[in-house]
Amino acid sequence: MKNKTILVIEDNELNMKLIRSLLQIGGYRILEVIDAETGIQMAREHLPDLILMDVQLPGMDGLSATRIIRKDPKLQHIPVIALTSYAMRGNGEKSQEAGCTGYITKPINTRSFLKMISQYLDYAQPKDES
Ligand code: MN
Repeated sequence: MKNKTILVIEDNELNMKLIRSLLQIGGYRILEVIDAETGIQMAREHLPDLILMDVQLPGMDGLSATRIIRKDPKLQHIPVIALTSYAMRGNGEKSQEAGCTGYITKPINTRSFLKMISQYLDYAQPKDES
């Protein structure tokens, strides 16, 4: 089976480092960008299997970027998982309203992170296609 590609849009260097090391353990192919505009462009070029979207980004925020992705016929089927700060209450609901498939709270729980990623990937796969 081909390695799944995950596009990570995250401007915080430490978070990116942690996410990268976890996704590498999971055997995923990783595309990394630090802003939403480049992220959308990368998504259109590479059609990743899943997008991890930081909510707070310089320039366009992650929820606005998700709304654009959901309106793009080429991208709208891709699961988008919001990375929300635990301190920012209400971000879970807001990310779902914007069209996110789910959300992961920061600080990232290293024990459950890969399990959540694989669940979101399974969820996105049609069951009859193996
Ligand atoms: Mn951020």
